[in-house]
This record gives sequence, structure tokens and C-alpha cells, in this order.
Amino acid sequence: MTNPLLADWTTPFALPPFAEISDADFGPAIEAALSEAAATVEAIAAQPDAPTFGNTIDALELGDTRLDRVLGAFFTLAGTDANDAREALMREISPKLAAYGSRITMNRALFERIDALWQNRDALSLSAEQERVLMLTRRSFVRSGAQLEGADRDRLSAIKERLAVLGTQFGQNLLADERDWSMTLAEDDLEGLPGFVQQAARAAGDDRGADGPVITLSRSLITPFLAFSPRRSLRRKAYAAWVARGENGGATDNRDIAQETLALRAERAHLLGYDSFATYKLEPEMAATPDAVRDLLMAVWAPARTKALADADALAAMMHADGVNGDLEPWDWHYYAEKRRQAEHDLDEAALKPYLQLERMIEAAFACAHRLFGLSFAPVEAPLHHPDARAWEVTRDGRHMALFVADYFARGSKRSGAWCSAMRSQSKLGGDVTPIVVNVCNFAKPPAGEPALLSYDDARTLFHEFGHALHQMLSNVTYGSISGTSVARDFVELPSQLYEHWLEVPEVMAEFATHAETGEAMPPDLLQRLLTAQNADQGFATVEYVASALVDLDFHSGQVPDDIMARQTEILDGLGMPHAISMRHATPHFAHIFTGDGYSAGYYSYMWSEVMDADAFEAFLEAGGAFDRDTAARLEKFILSAGGSEDPKSLYLKFRGKLPEVEALLKGRGLDSAA
Ligand SMILES: [Zn+2]
Repeated sequence: MTNPLLADWTTPFALPPFAEISDADFGPAIEAALSEAAATVEAIAAQPDAPTFGNTIDALELGDTRLDRVLGAFFTLAGTDANDAREALMREISPKLAAYGSRITMNRALFERIDALWQNRDALSLSAEQERVLMLTRRSFVRSGAQLEGADRDRLSAIKERLAVLGTQFGQNLLADERDWSMTLAEDDLEGLPGFVQQAARAAGDDRGADGPVITLSRSLITPFLAFSPRRSLRRKAYAAWVARGENGGATDNRDIAQETLALRAERAHLLGYDSFATYKLEPEMAATPDAVRDLLMAVWAPARTKALADADALAAMMHADGVNGDLEPWDWHYYAEKRRQAEHDLDEAALKPYLQLERMIEAAFACAHRLFGLSFAPVEAPLHHPDARAWEVTRDGRHMALFVADYFARGSKRSGAWCSAMRSQSKLGGDVTPIVVNVCNFAKPPAGEPALLSYDDARTLFHEFGHALHQMLSNVTYGSISGTSVARDFVELPSQLYEHWLEVPEVMAEFATHAETGEAMPPDLLQRLLTAQNADQGFATVEYVASALVDLDFHSGQVPDDIMARQTEILDGLGMPHAISMRHATPHFAHIFTGDGYSAGYYSYMWSEVMDADAFEAFLEAGGAFDRDTAARLEKFILSAGGSEDPKSLYLKFRGKLPEVEALLKGRGLDSAA
């Protein structure tokens, strides 16, 4: 019998035939597709004909179609419904896929063909999109070291290997420090803690065989403990342990690892011809240069710091009124900020929840996409990866655009968090391929017969992932490698974060946030309190984040500091870091930048995207309202349909007429009045 993964798929919408696939089919299918793709690449490199765009770039684009298809099915299942077999296969194929990738970029003959095309590009009469794909392809080879020879080439591989080891070690040390520490509480130490924290502390105590409830360094325990415990000495003890992660001396200390990592990254960048790791890392990003990142962060820093200092005074006054003398300390901030939040905009989550029904929020996301882009969504029966998953056919003016699959409920076998992936990406090179887009969330599944209710954060997540989905569904490019969300890291969150704004549009809430039992619309004052509560303590949040982003940027720019901890202190002193706030992630536990390369010299990108989404939504408001059709048409034309077909900066300029400015973000975070 043939492997169903390798056969032609005759299912509706050419979905993977999940019902016919067994776990045992995946390994052999991936192996077969991988060897086929590798053989295709070898053949492209070895062909005797002179390089043309068609026989090299087009051929590479189409060479792994089957591999993409099989992996699309496997990753969807492995991420949403893991079991031992799928996890084992995941571990097995990750290094194989990495090896496949580096075999391609280290193929000298292949690189020479691509490079010859690039040098000769003006004579090839390429379309703008083709020239962009050629540039991106060549650049990814160069950035992987395709141009290096001899000792340099060997040194680069050695550096990559060592960095992988250091990254893993950094993460494991952090986990070990988080696991090792706990603080046992006496019964009366539970005072002030909400029921769910008390329960979690008791469960953690049972778990560890402790003599009573315990506080651990799990974020879900320590954060509420710091916010709710009136016992200042315990807060101080817990806080000290939290900030010491990775810095406790001994075998799990991360300081030397961070130091070596920075040195190796700088060496890697120098080998590849860049003056610093930040220059190397930022080259493909919208920000493009360390200076652009620093300018953005500093533009936000000053008003955020002013706001935080004013908040610190207000919190210190509350503390003194509480009979506690002296300075407001970092272990006091969350406690008094929570008291202040309760006093100023108490938000009753229980009263809110019945208004946020999953079904109505799905309708809201669809209705906004209809008003903005003319998309229609019709539920369809289709073979999917799990019984909880649902599918809608997406059409416009009767024309098929995409299949949208959503898998909203949490289950033990699902990875945590929420994400958007494409089981199939849009492209036109090998015939018109429409996308199959998947949104995955982890909302609590209701008992049978009851409506699923969301928290406000859940509803925002639904809109966020749906924004990514629109980026895939509206994609309209020729080349799959640049379609949909295949864009720069600091640009990819623009469509998703932007879409969250429509959830806050009063008329959307008025229509779709209806009470599960009474059907009544959410009262306007509840909505207002909900929206203002989003801005609570933004001075603090912005300061702790920006400080971390600036340290990340500094460490990866210019000379690697001799003593990273001394340098960290120097940077914070130079910034005038408020006394009662520490970095969100201090160096010894800054997992984003030290457990791998993903966010190194890239921690800024969360805020970069936020600046853009705030500024982009402002474009709608300036044009007359959240549903302005002309602005929506420009958003689709220049951003949602364009994928990576142009430099993100020029895409944004075409959409907006100017580059994003920080004003809208400062207003959105309630920091503008502080400046
Ligand atoms: Zn996202």
C-alpha cells in the first residue's frame, strides 16, 4: 500500500487525508520527501546548462513542494496533539532538517549559480518580485557562510556548534535554578493571597513534598505572590530569588556562558564581514541598523521613565500611609501597584466573562474582515487533524481565497500558547495555490452544552492570531518563499497586533460582546473600565522592557564588554534606571537572547511592532474611522497581500505615506501625558 502522505491528496481543499494517515506513515514519508528534495537541489547545482532564473531560482522554489506538504501535516499534528511517537519523530527530524538546510547553503556549485545570476541581474529582465527573491536567496547563502573558504569555513561551523551547546546549557541552568528554589509558607503567610494562588501554593507544596504550601519561581506563582502578599520580608526574599536566577554561583551560573556567547557571536559576525553581531542580525530586519533600534527605544524611554518615576512617588505615598517607612523597593512595586489598580479601575472578571463568548468573538473577527476586505466565511465539513478543529471556506465575491482552520480549545496534548501556521502557503509559480491557514489557541473547553466563554486576553489572542491568518489568506505573490507571513521578524507582528485594535472598536463590542444568558450588550461603563485597565502600570512595564532591550542591543554592538555584569550596571546607571524597577530580564536569565539566536539583538522587535500597529491604526482613524475602506484597501495592497515581496520599510511607506512615529504608541500606553 502506498503511503497516504506521498499520494495525491483528493480530499476536499486538498487537505492532508488525516483519517487515512497513521503515525507510522510520517517517518518514512518525511525521509522520502527529504531525499527527494535533496536530490532535486543536487541536480539543480550539477546541471550542465548555464544558470538561468528558471533553472536555478524557480527550480529551487519548487524543489521542496512535497516536503513542505508533508511537514505541514506533521507539524500541525505534532503541535496540537502530541503523543510519544510524534514527539520522538520530532526529535529525530529536527537535526535532519537542519543538516538539509546547511547542505544547501554550503553547496558551492549552487551558490556560484545564484551569485552569477545576481551579478548579472540587470541583464535578466526580472520582475521586481523575482529580483527580490534572488536577493533574498543569495543573502541567506552569504549569511550562512557560503562565501567562506578553508579555515574560516571550519571556524564558522565550530562557532555554530559551540553556540548551540551554550544556548542549551543556558536554558537548562535557568530551569535548574527555577526548580531548586522554594519558600515554604506557614498557614498565616497565606494572608491576602487570592484563592487561586493559595490553591496553587498548596499544590506546589504537595508536589515537592514540602511541609505546607510553597512559593516557587514559576511565573504563575511568584508574580501573584509579589502582587498580593502583605508580608514585606517574604516578598523581599522571593524577589531576591527571582532576580538571582542564573547568578547563584556554582554549576548553574550563566554569567560565563553569556560572556562566551557574546564573544562567539561577535567573531561569527566578523568572519562574515560585519562590524558587529547587531549589524549582522539587523541587516534583514525592517529596523536595519543598531542606530534605528536605539533611536526608537530612546524615544520611548524618556516618557516611560518620567511616568514610572511619578508612579513610584504615588506608590511610595501609599506605602508610607501603610505605616512602612523608607524607600519604595522593587519587592514593593507589584504589591502597591495592584492595590492602586483595584482602587482606580476595579475590573470584575467574573462580571465580564459572560459577555465574551467564543462563538460571538469568532463572528466579530469574521465580520470585521468582511467590512474591511470583503471576505466571507462559510463553515465546511472537511477532514481535519482533530475533532475539536473547525474549518471555514474563505471567499470574496464568490471566488475561493483560502481555507481557514481553527483549533481553539486547550488539551493536554497541545503545545501551550497560541499561534498561526499555514498547512499550505499561497503561491502562483507552480499553478494557483491557495492557502490553508491554521489558528491554534488554548481556551478552556466548556462542559458539553455550555457556551465557551473567554477572558479579555483570550479574545485579544483570537483577534491577534486571526490577524496573522489574514496575512496568509490575502497573500498574493508568485513565490512561496516570500508569501504571507514570510517577512522580517520585526514586521511579522504588524498585521496581528494591528487586528487587535478592532476588538476595541466600541461598535464591534456593542454588537458582538453580548451576554451568554440574557443576550444583552456589554454595558458601556464596563467596556470603558475594561479599556482603561489595559493601561494600568504601563510606565513600569515599558521601563523594565526597554531597559532589557537596550542592554541586549548594547551587548551585541561594538566591542564585547570584558565584564558583562559591570557593563549592565553601567548601562542602567547611564539611563537613570528608577530605583524600584529592575530589568525585565537581567543578563544571567535573559533567555530570549541567550538560549538561541531568535531574539538576540532583537528583543526590541516587540516594541517596534507595537509602534507600527499603533501608527497604522491611527491611519484608519485619521481617514475617518476604523472601517475606512480606502485605508483597508491600501493595507491589503501594500502589506497583507505583499508578503516579503518588497523591503518592509518601503511597504509601510506606501501604505502610510510616512514611516511610523512613536506618538500613537505613547498615547496607546497612556505615556503621552507624562512627557
Ligand atoms: Zn503574533
